[in-house]
Amino acid sequence: SRFSMRHVISQVMEQLEPIAASKHVKFIWENRQNVSNEDETIIQADEVRIRQLILIVIENAIQYNRDGGSVTVSLEANPQKVSFIVNDTGMGIEKEHLPRIFERFYRVDKARTRRSEGTGLGLAIAKQIVDAHRAKIEVWSTPQMGTTIRVSLPSISDSFQNVSLS
Ligand code: ATP
Repeated sequence: SRFSMRHVISQVMEQLEPIAASKHVKFIWENRQNVSNEDETIIQADEVRIRQLILIVIENAIQYNRDGGSVTVSLEANPQKVSFIVNDTGMGIEKEHLPRIFERFYRVDKARTRRSEGTGLGLAIAKQIVDAHRAKIEVWSTPQMGTTIRVSLPSISDSFQNVSLS
């Protein structure tokens, strides 16, 4: 189906707001409306799965944050792709663990995170959704500073181009 990423992200953030508040994590939504007022963040994808993907990434940004930290969510759109970027001020991920966080059941520090009931499945599911949509997921992280995750999805114009070429 066709839907607005801006709209879905707004809804997911509304849904997660109470959880962020309970962890004293501040939500910052950089929702820039463009001048023409046309929604350039409309994509063609499985809305239910994309919603799940956004939820997984933002939930992690809250869960692995620090008390009083923040989560900044922003959107970028160009004729090729629509990207959403989630930045947190949390514990970060050590370089050695980065390549493995998309594996099923992989958790960075089992002792540290035992209290939180994560299964280590979230990012494996996120990766599956990304792969099913010709999308891309990128991670940058600095221990004790925070993590940035960017997910880029093909924009409608790009998928039309690909359809007409094949
Ligand atoms: P689940 O998502 O199933 O509740 P989970 O959060 O442990 O469990 P994943 O979402 O797959 O599982 O994440 C895997 C591991 O990557 C996490 O256990 C955590 O150690 C690390 N991680 C994920 N996101 C972040 C983040 N934003 N900051 C720091 N570490 C993270």
